[in-house]
Amino acid sequence: MDQKKIGCFIAARRKDNGLTQSQLAEKLGITDKAVSKWETGKSMPDLSLFMPLCDLLQITLNELLLGEFISDENLKEKSNEVLFEVVTSWLGKDQWKNKTQSHVPAVLKLSHVEKIYETDSTSTVAVHDVSFEIAKGSFVGIMGASGSGKTTLLNMIATIDKATCGQIKIDDQDISELSENDLASFRREHLGFVFQEYNLLDTLTVYENIALALTIKRMPKDCIKRSITDLAEKLDISEVLSKFPYEISGGQRQRCACVRAIATNPSLILADEPTGALDSCSAKQLLDTFVMLSQKYRATILMVTHDALSASYCDKILFMQDGEIKASLEREQESKRGFFIRILETMAKVTGGIDHVY
Ligand code: ADP
Ligand code: MG
Repeated sequence: MDQKKIGCFIAARRKDNGLTQSQLAEKLGITDKAVSKWETGKSMPDLSLFMPLCDLLQITLNELLLGEFISDENLKEKSNEVLFEVVTSWLGKDQWKNKTQSHVPAVLKLSHVEKIYETDSTSTVAVHDVSFEIAKGSFVGIMGASGSGKTTLLNMIATIDKATCGQIKIDDQDISELSENDLASFRREHLGFVFQEYNLLDTLTVYENIALALTIKRMPKDCIKRSITDLAEKLDISEVLSKFPYEISGGQRQRCACVRAIATNPSLILADEPTGALDSCSAKQLLDTFVMLSQKYRATILMVTHDALSASYCDKILFMQDGEIKASLEREQESKRGFFIRILETMAKVTGGIDHVY
């Protein structure tokens, strides 16, 4: 992608729409400096700002990413050019490592899970008749538009929320049979969490944050030290172990949360929009970490995301809409890029439109 060209195009369109840099910044809820950095080609807008920026500049996403107007007659060709450039720059050119999945035990089993929220006047079916299994060592994504029931589903699996009916089994234990007391220790023993807010305690150093999770599990001190040092090196946070969470970057915090989640060797790692608050480079690092964990350590990961790029790191995707799983897609012998394109196609079928991409 030609950042300079994109910057000039943003500047020109901003002026054409009669906006100053500060007016544009204000409308987007960001600093003037950020706008000026884009326009000089020093940085690119954050992914989350693409759509509102296009609206304000009255251009399409393809035009933004190409840095020029696209006429109707070469729309298809130019759009494909943009798509492939974006995807390649994000995903690289790796090939799929096949995991032999035959006779792998299921870590998570859902059958006919239902969640209905009752309020005074209405009842909302947030999750309807959801059944699936996740095998050990797989990295599964749940995709769906906002409000489709992803968080509700994840919270029930996380034992934070209770299903209205249906069964959820983790490591062959039906979680509805556990008492409140048992649930707390079950969570500690079997589950790891990587959520959008990192949930690190600000009064403890990174090391102490991770050690806390292990102390709760009653691991001997020297064991804790070895385990943390080892994982910190793998996730590239060795230098920040003695710092406090507020002294390190968002990407580093998220990787710390990741070390904390996996240090206890949980059966299942749950991640809700874990890349939501990260810049694209940190997001990519986190996703690479998840892939590494599932391939090398056979960690089982369930990640909620609404973003097709993040999803293309997974082995399998479940597509949710209106509380139901409408489709599923498995990664075959293909690159991330190939999988990404199939994800977009499936999303289009499920939701009936991917206008913003093509
Ligand atoms: P997603 O994570 O996919 O955006 P959610 O699981 O948060 O979706 O929400 C699914 C549906 O359930 C939405 O219609 C939402 O309004 C509703 N919902 C979620 N939580 C509650 C709640 N605590 N009380 C009532 N309705 C809820
Ligand atoms: Mg959600």
